[in-house]
Amino acid sequence: MSEKQSLADVRFHLSVRDCFSDIGNHNLDNTIGSMHNRNMERDPVIEAKNLFKNYRDLTAVSGVSFEVYQGELFGFLGPNGAGKTTIMRMIQCVSPRSSGDLSVFSRDTDRDGRIIRSRIGVVPQEANLDPDLSVEDNILVYARFFRIPPMEAITRTEELLSFFELTRKRKTPIASLSGGMKRRLLLARALINRPSLLILDEPTIGLDPQARHHIWERLMQLKQEGNTIVLTTHYLDEAQRLCDRLVIMDQGQILAEGSPDDLVKRYFQTDIIETDNDPLIRDCLIKNRISFETAGDLIQIKDALTPLVADHLLMQCSGVRIIRRPPTLEDVFLLLTGRRIRE
Ligand code: ATP
Repeated sequence: MSEKQSLADVRFHLSVRDCFSDIGNHNLDNTIGSMHNRNMERDPVIEAKNLFKNYRDLTAVSGVSFEVYQGELFGFLGPNGAGKTTIMRMIQCVSPRSSGDLSVFSRDTDRDGRIIRSRIGVVPQEANLDPDLSVEDNILVYARFFRIPPMEAITRTEELLSFFELTRKRKTPIASLSGGMKRRLLLARALINRPSLLILDEPTIGLDPQARHHIWERLMQLKQEGNTIVLTTHYLDEAQRLCDRLVIMDQGQILAEGSPDDLVKRYFQTDIIETDNDPLIRDCLIKNRISFETAGDLIQIKDALTPLVADHLLMQCSGVRIIRRPPTLEDVFLLLTGRRIRE
């Protein structure tokens, strides 16, 4: 998989080189700002209709339809193998679809790949920085792929290093960077061509809370400036915090779509009660005809009469430890995709 990923990256770079003539007259004004179209009209930037992707006898993406609008931060959630990266790669035009329709900037991804690629910025799941180059040279080399004039490239690199607080690390070799710095550098590099669409495949994977918050702040800033951003993530708090809308996928299909708050409200009307998965408690619940689910050492009660059930449990089942909490996107995710480990 990672070998295939790096081959795709090489193909991406070659194709970007090929399309220099297409973007030679690209407007270079307003460094970070110019990629941000402040016009928040509801134009679909990405449109997928009944999209399929097969790998031999495996259907990785199975008839998905979705639209991503200008200025939105849109998330793809799903367990391992759900098909998220496959969709990202089709949007990036590095993997052709098997059937269905997919357009980016109203252009067909299979036909107009070169032009689409010139207008997107990509942060891949795996850090593919050049280990032989310094922080700033990693960005400057990317600028050359896009035929950005050298002085302009230096100006933009300065701004991006500053935006991601990497200025002091500019001469540092990649091997000496922390995981958080590498992810920030990947983001900075992805913005060098002032893309109209930013695609982030698990942008904060493996980062500590401080580094994640730092990236969230930068992404929120980019969003507020009107950028269209698509991301995949396994961190449901990240999705809840960042995404305007998202889809939850499993086995190549979209199971639900909506804003994080709407999804939670759609599937849960009351708080959730959690208590210990203890035989005495189970007996007590059964005796009182209270329906429950078990998940490892946890019992969950998602009853429409949650507050009454909580009181009842406290009175009837002595010594019970009860947590009553509002439902979250993670509850929706587990409800829709189950608890079975994938792959
Ligand atoms: P993860 O969260 O683990 O990154 P994902 O949702 O991004 O998973 P994909 O990487 O899109 O899932 O994979 C979807 C399915 O397609 C998986 O079963 C995967 O093994 C398969 N797959 C992905 N790429 C290829 C490929 N190049 N050749 C064959 N099968 C592939």
